[in-house]
Amino acid sequence: MGEPIVIALDGTSASGKSTNAKRVAKALDYAYVDTGAMYRSLAWYCLEKEVDLGDAKAIASLCRRWKTELKNDDGHIRLYVDGYFPEKEIRTAETSAAVPVVAAVPAVRKWMKAKQRECIEFGDLVMEGRDIGSNVFPDTDYKFYLDASLDERSKRRAADGVDENLAERDKQDSQRAAAPLMIPLGAKVINNSEMTAEETSALIISEVQEKLEAAG
Ligand code: C5P
Repeated sequence: MGEPIVIALDGTSASGKSTNAKRVAKALDYAYVDTGAMYRSLAWYCLEKEVDLGDAKAIASLCRRWKTELKNDDGHIRLYVDGYFPEKEIRTAETSAAVPVVAAVPAVRKWMKAKQRECIEFGDLVMEGRDIGSNVFPDTDYKFYLDASLDERSKRRAADGVDENLAERDKQDSQRAAAPLMIPLGAKVINNSEMTAEETSALIISEVQEKLEAAG
């Protein structure tokens, strides 16, 4: 058996990364990794521990000290914090606002990259995020970048009951110095404003299967 395959799915906020990453992982029987959830967990933990978000050193220090473990929950690779996965807590408006600040700290990104690369112990992966194809697994041949119009993305978030300034989060993610959100070199860009999740995931799956066949 060769190296595990990593499908990198990057893109803007609410561009359908999670929905499509889960669909592709299920169809190909790969494990699914939501790297945004890892950054969100650290943001939540900083809020819990009342770390000053203006203090990058304090954030980096907490990240070096927190007790975490990767677990495979039914095909979803999750980062447990002190034996707990904060599923609901990481989706609050407070955590969403804090996460780009935490994610811009270089020592945090270094820690996350190492942890995310460890996930290949679980086998073939679909990994979604902002810097997977550009920074975490830059050598993978399977890179996709999802986007949709701001209007469409805001509608999707509102349908999930979340009212958030997506443009502001994308701006912060794109403008940070350390591993900013960008279209990775060699990525297939899919603008899915006018596409259903079925169409988007079918397109990704067929591209991957074509490449797998070509690779023999
Ligand atoms: O994907 P999700 O919206 O849950 O990501 C939350 C935040 O985590 C992003 O806005 C970004 O600040 C950060 N993130 C990141 N790099 C990743 C994944 C997420 O900086 N690979």
